[in-house]
Amino acid sequence: MPFNTLPVRRRLLIAACAFGLSAPATAGPNPAAEAQTLDILKRAIAFRTVAGPGNQTPQFAAYLKEQLVAGGFAAEDVTITPVDDTAYLIARYRGSDPTLKPLLLSGHMDVVEAKPADWQRDPFTPVIENGYIYGRGATDMKFDDALMAASLIDLKRQHFTPKRDVVLILSGDEETIMKTTQMLAAQFPDAYMLLNGDGGGGNLGEDGKPAYYALEGAEKAYGDYTLTFTNPGGHSSAPRKENAIYEMAAALTRIGNHQFTPQLNDITKAYFTAAADRAAPKTAAAMRAFAADPTDKQAIAALSADPAHVGRIGTTCVATMLAGGHALNALPQRATANINCRIFPGTSFQQVQDELVRVADDPRMQIHFIDTGTTASPASPMRADVTAAVKEGLAFGYKGVPIIPSMASGASDSMWFRVRGVPSYGVAPIFIKDSDDFSHGLNERTQLSNIVPGVAYWKVLIRRLSS
Ligand SMILES: [Zn+2]
Repeated sequence: MPFNTLPVRRRLLIAACAFGLSAPATAGPNPAAEAQTLDILKRAIAFRTVAGPGNQTPQFAAYLKEQLVAGGFAAEDVTITPVDDTAYLIARYRGSDPTLKPLLLSGHMDVVEAKPADWQRDPFTPVIENGYIYGRGATDMKFDDALMAASLIDLKRQHFTPKRDVVLILSGDEETIMKTTQMLAAQFPDAYMLLNGDGGGGNLGEDGKPAYYALEGAEKAYGDYTLTFTNPGGHSSAPRKENAIYEMAAALTRIGNHQFTPQLNDITKAYFTAAADRAAPKTAAAMRAFAADPTDKQAIAALSADPAHVGRIGTTCVATMLAGGHALNALPQRATANINCRIFPGTSFQQVQDELVRVADDPRMQIHFIDTGTTASPASPMRADVTAAVKEGLAFGYKGVPIIPSMASGASDSMWFRVRGVPSYGVAPIFIKDSDDFSHGLNERTQLSNIVPGVAYWKVLIRRLSS
């Protein structure tokens, strides 16, 4: 996930079945793939795949290619394309019917910067302690890279032939500018479906028991808008009616009081319906009422009042930064504010901008959209075959865990495919406790007990959705 989003995955592990450092090879039904996952994961963490000088993403890609080719992929079916200081990888697992659209498995090889001085262990040395693997990328998302690669190799080992091509695509700058993602999306504009290992995921309660699985089928877009008021200024001993700070304050007050029209889609409707079963009675009633009728005023009021839910019922915009004036004793010549918006799928950046202008209701205000390289994207349809495959995939380690459709609060590689009409789903198999989620943070770690059910899961998903 890029820097500008909240981690949506809550990846948790099953604490009860933590195994030792070298145990995974014998712990599950796919011993060779489980051992290889751990090998790849350890090597992966050691590549410093951080944007900028010394970026080792190309080396990591070369290492993965080596593994895939040794595992049965034709050398010409695994390509690495250098882009600036990074690279992207495409590995094609050929199916029996080349006329079918390909199934994409997506991930990213880059990680967020990590300063060794701030970490308790070196972020680029894989460290295994108490059943956890520590290191930058242990959660976001080298664990899933390793699982996907090892699972594909295991399917080759078992001589599995899919009907459609299965293509592993790994981007190299998801955490920053997503240039490689956009290049990948341009190459697969009419893919059958994209399964993203960098979204969705399971939640473990603090007691270590699996609570639910979030299947991500949509994401909100991220947009920043700069508002500016300018004035001639002057001496503060001679105030005049025009004042950039007062004008800004009034506009911000109007924006702060505004609520964007609540919206509901396939994904959020299914989310509220499923989440209501786990919510407190009052919230549950509001969720059910909103799912039935997104214009229900009482339900909207109840969900809007809760920061955990307000983002799920529509676009939100909030002031996050403010600056104005240039001297204690001068009338302000300029006031600026940043409005940060999380935009509901299907709404464009321009529509949000138009609404901000209308609500601010002051023609003197200038507004400027900050292009951070993201895009707005539609929600993917909820598909029975995807839900069924996920359910079957989870059966090995997490039988019966509720599957809750979810909308991510921010951007992943999927958006560049959704915007081209490729149905895209965040389907990571990693279960994690909220208290263990250190994506982008210090001492990032994931429980190794995710390997065994993770391999079993990916193999089921790939088999089911490629035929
Ligand atoms: Zn990520």
